[in-house]
Formats: sequence, C-alpha cells, structure tokens
Amino acid sequence: LTVLGLESSCDDTAAAVVRQRAGGPPEILSSVVRGQTALHAPFGGVVPEIAARAHAEKIDLCVDDALAAAGLGLGDLDAVAVTAGPGLIGGVLAGVMCAKGIAAATGLPLVGVNHLAGHALTPRLTDGLDFPYLMLLASGGHCQFLSVEGVEDFTRLGGTIDDAPGEAFDKTAKLLGLPQPGGPEVERAAMAGDPARFAFPRPLMDRPGCDMSFSGLKTALLRARDALIAEKGGITLQDRADLCAAFQAAVRDVLAGKAARAIAAAPGATALAVAGGVAANRTIRAALEQVAADAGLRFVAPPLALCTDNAAMIAWAGLERFRLGGRDGMDLVARPRWPLDETQPALIGAGK
Ligand code: ATP
Ligand code: FE
Repeated sequence: LTVLGLESSCDDTAAAVVRQRAGGPPEILSSVVRGQTALHAPFGGVVPEIAARAHAEKIDLCVDDALAAAGLGLGDLDAVAVTAGPGLIGGVLAGVMCAKGIAAATGLPLVGVNHLAGHALTPRLTDGLDFPYLMLLASGGHCQFLSVEGVEDFTRLGGTIDDAPGEAFDKTAKLLGLPQPGGPEVERAAMAGDPARFAFPRPLMDRPGCDMSFSGLKTALLRARDALIAEKGGITLQDRADLCAAFQAAVRDVLAGKAARAIAAAPGATALAVAGGVAANRTIRAALEQVAADAGLRFVAPPLALCTDNAAMIAWAGLERFRLGGRDGMDLVARPRWPLDETQPALIGAGK
C-alpha cells in the first residue's frame, strides 16, 4: 500500500508518502515539512489566521514536492490520508479541503486521521512496535500518557491539567531573555547550571494517577527570578543557568515519576515510546529511558523529525487505518477538538 499524508493542524504544513509492501517494513518515500516559524515570530506565538492562510497557500506545493521526491504520481497511490483534527480549525480545514480535492479528482479513498493518533502510531513506523505499548506525548501543545492498544484503540492514562511542558520551556526562556523556541535554549543554558540551587515544586507528584501540572513551575521560576532581581538588580549568566537547570530537573522528575505510574497502570505494555519536541531533551530522555529500563521495558524515541509535527506519521496512521478497512466520505469534517478515545472521524453534524 502507498499512502499520501497531509498535515496542517498547527504551524507546519507537511506532505509525505509512505509505502508498505506485503510482508515488508514500512518505508518513508518522502516527507516534506514547511514550517511557519518566521511568519509567527513577530507575534510571539502562532496566529491562527496567519497559519490558516499559509497552510492554504503551501499545502498544494507540499503535495507536489512530496510526490516528486517519492518519484510517484497520484496514480501510484492507494489512498490519501489527512489530519482531520485536533488543531487550529483553519489549518485543519485547509488540509481536509486539499485532500478532498485530490480524492474527488482521482477517485482515491480518503482517510481522516487524528493528529494525536499519528504521533502515537509513529513508533510502529520507525521501530515496528507491537501493541500494546505506552506512549508519552510531550510537545508545545500536548502532554499525555497513552496506552496504545490498537490502530484505533487508545486509553488516555492522564495528562497535563494546565500547560504543556514545551509551553513551560518556552515561557521559561521568555522570562529569562532566551530566544524561542525555548526548549533547546533552556537545555543548553542548563548544562552549565546547578539544578540543586533552587527547590522548584514537583506538582501532583503525591497524587495517584498520571495527571501533571506545569503552570506552578513557571510561577516558581518567575518568583525566583524576581527575588534575584530585587536582591542585586539583575541576574547573572550563572543565575540563569541555575534557574534553567532547576526548572529542567523539575520537569524531568514529573515526567519520569508519572511515567513510572503509567507503566504500573498498563501491565501488558512491552515498551515506553516518546514523541513531541520535549522528547528531544537529553536530560528528560535519559530519565525516561532509566524508568523504562527499571521496569524491563524497551525505550523507543523516534528520530526528532518524526517526533515533531510531520506528515509521514499521518500517511502511516492513514495506511494502518485504511488496511483495516477505515475510510471516510466527502462528509469528513475538520474537528478543532478530538479526544483520542473517540477515534472515528465525525460525520457532518456530529462534530464536537
Ligand atoms: P503540537 O503540540 O501540536 O505537536 P508543537 O509545534 O508545539 O505542536 P513540537 O514541534 O512537537 O510541538 O514541539 C515543540 C516544543 O518542544 C516547543 O515548545 C519546544 O520548546 C519544545 N522543545 C524542543 N526541543 C526541546 C528541548 N531540547 N528541551 C525541551 N523542550 C524542547
Ligand atoms: Fe503534534
């Protein structure tokens, strides 16, 4: 099977072609991502209207590039898969309209994919994981533990009740005068820091379950920074490094502690997989790897380009769904909200 995938739910416009021959491993024939970072940079965050317009302008070009890079034409495809939610509705609509156009023009089957399912099924594309496995999705917009039991069978074990950890990294960078995206900057600064200098909270660690909270951490960091400024009129590079290290250690402890809980809650799982930009953090990754090893589980971290938003994961999730008979009609709707526990794309009128 050969499937074209389209992704446009946040600030990356992407198209990719994934193929799996009978009995063979999946192959990513092409994966094109056009980011919008520069467009949104002046506004300090993703502006939905700008994102929607850029997706509408770029998605066709991405499709052309992905097909050209794969050396294929539309006639070589078996299906077209598209992110149908959750995400910024204008962007999701741009992708869904493009996919419907291709389906209508070619007669190819249309397969709606949940963006989170795309992330959650990526370890099967990259590492051939069998169900069930555990997934930690930690990015700028999401944070949740999932038990992945089938192509359309997910149990959410818990997640953040406020900010996502990537968002917390970004806000920390902003508070400390570091550039965006903040994650890599905070990680770099933390390398020269002493994590023990500030005692930041580990929210919800004493509560059962896998829910997490990161907004209090940001407040604690702000208070520590302001105390330093009040004391000596500013913060030194060493202060900044120490603040970053202490913040990163707190996020690490929360994610690792809750990962151990998730493993205990999903006894059949054979692996712990991660996705999302925060999974790029070496300190966090090492802690999660240790938690998995302690429980005798395999640890899987796909290459970063497949951990962050991309269309190969959508093509792959679409291929997996299509193989099981899943497909959608022209009544496929774009959904801004779409919890993973409800995997079927909604029909018109049933959208939430
Ligand atoms: P979505 O949540 O919809 O997937 P996103 O664009 O926010 O979208 P990603 O691209 O997966 O998500 O991840 C980006 C986030 O990851 C940013 O918040 C960024 O700061 C964070 N991040 C990237 N690298 C690191 C790092 N080394 N350490 C910590 N956080 C990081
Ligand atoms: Fe994503």
